[in-house]
Amino acid sequence: MKGKNQGSLREENTSVILRVLRSQPGLCRADIARICGLTPPTVSRLIGFMIDRGLIKEKKHKTDRIGRRPIGLYFNGGGYYIVGLSLTQNEVKGILADLNGKIVKEDKISINGKTFGKNDLSKVVKLVKSLIKRRGKRNIIGVGFASPGIVSTDDGTVVNVPHFPKFKNVPVKSVFEKELLLRTVVANDASAEAVAEQYFGKGEGVSDFVLLHAGDGIGMGIVLNGELYSGNFGVSGEVGHISIDIKNGKKCECGNRGCVELYSGLDALLNDASALLKKKVQSIDDLTKLAGKKNKKLLSLLKERGELLGYAMVNVVNLLAPQKIIVTGELSALYEEFVKPMKEVVDKYSFYGVGKEISLELSEIKENSVPFAAAAMVLREFLQNPYAFLP
Ligand SMILES: [Zn+2]
Repeated sequence: MKGKNQGSLREENTSVILRVLRSQPGLCRADIARICGLTPPTVSRLIGFMIDRGLIKEKKHKTDRIGRRPIGLYFNGGGYYIVGLSLTQNEVKGILADLNGKIVKEDKISINGKTFGKNDLSKVVKLVKSLIKRRGKRNIIGVGFASPGIVSTDDGTVVNVPHFPKFKNVPVKSVFEKELLLRTVVANDASAEAVAEQYFGKGEGVSDFVLLHAGDGIGMGIVLNGELYSGNFGVSGEVGHISIDIKNGKKCECGNRGCVELYSGLDALLNDASALLKKKVQSIDDLTKLAGKKNKKLLSLLKERGELLGYAMVNVVNLLAPQKIIVTGELSALYEEFVKPMKEVVDKYSFYGVGKEISLELSEIKENSVPFAAAAMVLREFLQNPYAFLP
């Protein structure tokens, strides 16, 4: 076995303690030593350090049977903050959240995806500065940036974003770290959303699940064995580009034909619903209102498109057999009309009907879900490597 130096061992132990306390609040020092397999002096020393840094707090429990008052330890998420950012066609949204996931501030800037380039990052830097204004930099853990498309997580470069012709190979991490002097994590948006579910939502305690983002784009974040799977070459979970008609399908920006996103994505549904109803259907709100009026033609369009996505999901289920599918994105608002028909196809056509064993749940993270997810990515890395982030 390769020897570990004291520093990395200390960091690993700190990480384990923080994660244990996050999932099992109220443990005492002796419990932690037992659960983590550490000696009591090591635990005391590391806990002391984290109490000094405000990452853990102590609370005296009620007197136990033999009259002692054991001291419980709690992860103190309220003492530090993370900035989360999301990139979309029309805006960059930003939030400031504490380590418990409580959003304390939000703001956004308008952008135009067609012209947005590397130099426009200065506007995003300004947005971050306004979000952290009046909070000491010492209390900011880091910045998360979630982007659609291909993201190289190793060096924090956004490689390619659909419909952003000028935003290619942009080293977002190094620009932000230079301008803000804050550690930055750059991630694909669907991957980040999966992590947000893992830490704050329907993915807590689930070892294998997929997060299906059904919006303009259709993407997926994958968690296997309790860890985010982000693939290689900046690509994973591109379920929207599974073809359902490789020969005669519509031509996709990715170069292939018949990608399911071109039929079941929100953009496609708005266009096709507009043509069908002979009036402009502009947004998911329009679509849900119209679906509520039970127009038969519209309902059958939504059902058909949900089912098409279901056929793509059959591939996912046959490949990964996750325990759970969590659905988010605008189209999750159309549960009966769109999501349920999708799941019915999965149940019926997956390998020997294994889909029936898989639960489907809608995400409960609604407001600011993608910038929140970007912040969750930072929390995840912080809990893995706390010393890299602590000021
Ligand atoms: Zn495609």
